[in-house]
Amino acid sequence: MSAPATRAPAATGNGPAWLTTRTVTVAAVVVLLALWGGLSPFTVTLLNYIGLHALVALGLVLLTGVGGMTSFGQAAFVGLGAYATAWVCAAPEVAAALQGVPAAWLPWLGLALGLVLTALVAGALGAVTLRLGGHYLPLATIAWGLSLYFLFGNLGFLGGHTGITGIAALQVGPWTLADPRELGLLIWAVVLLALWALHNLLDSRTGRAVRALKSGRLMAESMGVDTGRLRAQVFLLAALLAALSGWLYAHLQRFVNPTPFNINIGIEYLFMAVVGGSGHLWGAVVGATLIALLKEQLQDWLPRLLGASGNFEIIIFGLLMMVVLQRYADGLWPTLAGWARRLGVHPTPVRLPPPSALPQRTLPPPGTVLVQARDVTKRFGGLVANSQVSLEVRAGEVHALIGPNGAGKSTFFNMISGVDDPTEGEVWLLGEPMTGRPSRDFAARGLGRTFQHVRLLGQRSVLDNVALGAHLRGRRGWLASMLRLDRREEAALQAEALRQIERCGLTEHAHTPAGALALGQQRIVEIARALAGQPALLLLDEPAAGLRHLEKQALAKLLDQLRREGLGILIVEHDMEFVMNLADRITVLDFGTVIAHGTPAEVQRDPRVLQAYLGDDALSGGAA
Ligand code: ADP
Ligand code: MG
Repeated sequence: MSAPATRAPAATGNGPAWLTTRTVTVAAVVVLLALWGGLSPFTVTLLNYIGLHALVALGLVLLTGVGGMTSFGQAAFVGLGAYATAWVCAAPEVAAALQGVPAAWLPWLGLALGLVLTALVAGALGAVTLRLGGHYLPLATIAWGLSLYFLFGNLGFLGGHTGITGIAALQVGPWTLADPRELGLLIWAVVLLALWALHNLLDSRTGRAVRALKSGRLMAESMGVDTGRLRAQVFLLAALLAALSGWLYAHLQRFVNPTPFNINIGIEYLFMAVVGGSGHLWGAVVGATLIALLKEQLQDWLPRLLGASGNFEIIIFGLLMMVVLQRYADGLWPTLAGWARRLGVHPTPVRLPPPSALPQRTLPPPGTVLVQARDVTKRFGGLVANSQVSLEVRAGEVHALIGPNGAGKSTFFNMISGVDDPTEGEVWLLGEPMTGRPSRDFAARGLGRTFQHVRLLGQRSVLDNVALGAHLRGRRGWLASMLRLDRREEAALQAEALRQIERCGLTEHAHTPAGALALGQQRIVEIARALAGQPALLLLDEPAAGLRHLEKQALAKLLDQLRREGLGILIVEHDMEFVMNLADRITVLDFGTVIAHGTPAEVQRDPRVLQAYLGDDALSGGAA
């Protein structure tokens, strides 16, 4: 496909074509820049803090909103960034050690130290805590958030609870950013840069994988994504953004003490990300603004109302968060974006350059044994779901696995695709032992699969879902994505996804959210996603369920064509007519055991098969 893939035109659009989210953003920045010199010092300070907080909240949007990992401990990383530069710039022992280094360099050394320290600490914390599931991860973040806070207050060389004063102003080239108004420009430049980079990231191969972390880790692994590593990288990036904010903070305040890095500030950062719009980058800015303005007002009013001083605003924040989340489950940003659309603002159209070439897999010659299960047994406690199942699928054949509900078919699929490990027995893929390897290794060696219970990202487009299937055919990573150096490869991945979508007959739905399709069609999207990885072996778990007659015919035709192209297909299906007409060979499972094996004609005559289906007229032609 040579035409550059472009994103679908915006559905809404009563505004002029130039009125896009990008023009609105640029206009807002220009206006703010023009007003900057005339703003009151109070407003500048407020905006500076909003910027600093937005930077941390941005990391949280990525980590929590998109990646599904809740952290209450980000304030500790802000502290690392702040204390590192404070120590480098203001500690006498460092001054002695760094004699001869120009003073203007010190903040930059501080930044380097802060980022390195944060990377080390986040790396170590991530390695330990990111494996925790459910509520344990958020609890762990509270634990280390508290620990680091107390560490800041108790280390003598960090000045204890008084902290460190006398931090030098930041110098950028010839400019000394001593005035908050000057440093504010840098703060907001950093925020805008981070917004741009993260926006690019989320709109890329890596971003698609990150989006799959929240709901579909099992699925993402089957597409070849190393989700453990990806989670650690997201965690690291969020921590580095927090540290960057801390560095800027230290040079804005010119002194640091432990208070702003306390766990309750960590909770506030999470408020900002969630209230603003946990999955939306601009939600971080909205959330930071809202919390800053509220805090400002509440700190004024609450003590007057209550006749006592204290941090009462945190109570109001808690209540507010509950109300907002009741009414706006996805935070405020989607509502604001909806207003903008109604005012005629279009999403910025995405234009991609001509695609680069994707690596192509040479399929093994017909007859090659693709997957081989040798006496595979799977026990769930006392239940034997698979008992010594042996089966092989060859290139260029459709092999059907049938059997009553609960016979162990889906379990067997998981055994031979690395989703789960057999209790006994071995799995070989293209002549290599694969037992115990993760499912992403199976994907890399040419296995593509669908799931009986559809695993799609319902809010993402069909195109986006299918492109995730081509993950392993792309190479571009974090940096290339953030800097937009991945566009030709991205064009190629999208073109490939569109090709598979077209082949599966879903072209008109390419830009529809996958969750909006009928369940039967969602199964077809899963097939397109598997095909985007250019597999040699395709595992389909009940692909025809929920399809209408004509759609089933189209599916049978597609599978037949794939077979002729040389793919091996293993299919679990209950529609006997479909299976008998399509399959070259059939294996019948009952109570986890293979009870028959052969051509459709042989299997239909087998007395054990007839008995297993006793009382069921499935084998005489009707649907099971
Ligand atoms: P099929 O796909 O043939 O309908 P499955 O492979 O889904 O059957 O299930 C086979 C048996 O294994 C069933 O009795 C099911 O309840 C059981 N089973 C499947 N997965 C698990 C699991 N993760 N834990 C416990 N039992 C399971
Ligand atoms: Mg099943």
